[in-house]
Amino acid sequence: MKKMKELPILFGEKELCCGCSACYAICPKSAIYMVLDEEGFPYPKIETEKCVRCYKCIAVCPIKIKERSR
Ligand code: SF4
Ligand code: SF4
Repeated sequence: MKKMKELPILFGEKELCCGCSACYAICPKSAIYMVLDEEGFPYPKIETEKCVRCYKCIAVCPIKIKERSR
């Protein structure tokens, strides 16, 4: 079987995700779904089997864009 590229990491700490759902909106494979945490804040989760590792979700994330421009 062909080895798949790494699954993108949308955020490590919760502080690194503002729940804007831009990643969810851009995913061409609908591989991301938003899950509410215990306080009712939405966080994205990737369905491993659906993800084609295009990294569009990483490219669109406003927090990662900010990190890159530092
Ligand atoms: S890498 Fe591409 S397919 Fe996978 S979750 Fe991100 S946008 Fe969706
Ligand atoms: S685009 Fe970034 S900040 Fe927005 S929900 Fe996705 S991971 Fe969180």
